[in-house]
Amino acid sequence: MKSTTKIFGCIADPIDHVKAPTLFSKEFSKRNVDAVMIPINATKENLHNVIIGLKNIKNFLGLTVTIPHKVDIINMCDELELEATEVGAVNWIKFENNKVIGNNFDGSGFIKGLLKSKVSLNDKSVCIFGAGGAGMAIAFALAKYNLKHLKIVNRDLLKGISLLKQLKNSFPSKHISVESLNEYNISNFDIVINATSLGLKENVQMPFDPNKVNNNCLIADIIMDPEETALIQQARKLNKKVHLGKNMLENQIDLAGRYFNLW
Ligand code: NDP
Repeated sequence: MKSTTKIFGCIADPIDHVKAPTLFSKEFSKRNVDAVMIPINATKENLHNVIIGLKNIKNFLGLTVTIPHKVDIINMCDELELEATEVGAVNWIKFENNKVIGNNFDGSGFIKGLLKSKVSLNDKSVCIFGAGGAGMAIAFALAKYNLKHLKIVNRDLLKGISLLKQLKNSFPSKHISVESLNEYNISNFDIVINATSLGLKENVQMPFDPNKVNNNCLIADIIMDPEETALIQQARKLNKKVHLGKNMLENQIDLAGRYFNLW
């Protein structure tokens, strides 16, 4: 670290599970960028004061934002980029000209990862399990593509319906539907995505049975810890194509670096 080093933060509570500081700092040094990312553990109650304090540090350029602050931090933003407005959640903020600008790279990071893996979205039927922050961001990003059908499956059906309404508002001509986790059909989909937290860490539950998808279906997970969830392991045993959660994060790193003109 030098006196000119640019500082980024990763804000969360709790903080022990976050991987961004290690991954970003590694990426900065790999790309010869004079920057570091530090973990910042702030409670919901202190969030406002912490953001004001950080904004006033001249070499503090921005933050990646994670649980539980992604929604509350909107109230502290002077401006929101389109993706953050659509999703109603912020996972990056930039301090610029004394302003706090909110953005969200969850959806674009996921799509970039798919496209980099040469997965085409044109005329495809895609199903997402999960209508939480990440599920919403991915749904909005997917709805911009020329899909044949986009389906949301969520445990809390009302939350799924609310997401469907928001999507229909923004994309009225698209074929978008919703089903509950108790009753769904995924036999005719090209891509099925797990955007729930099922499978995280020691949790070996699967959001859906990979036997229920057709043979050519790609099964994608967005969970990074473990790198291969129970769902992915089971899908591999069934010889299904898989796409791992680490792709989404790696591509968010790339997008964030471009957003801050670091590369
Ligand atoms: P949220 O808390 O906003 O949403 C959680 C989602 O999981 C909801 O749809 C929720 O359903 C569902 N869910 C939780 N528990 C259960 C359960 N027992 N049974 C069925 N459904 C359940 O979290 P996020 O959307 O922010 O994150 C989801 C996951 O994605 C996390 O594991 C996170 O680590 C990962 N993630 C990965 C990223 C990456 O870059 N790879 C980026 C962001 C997140 P309900 O609405 O019914 O509660």
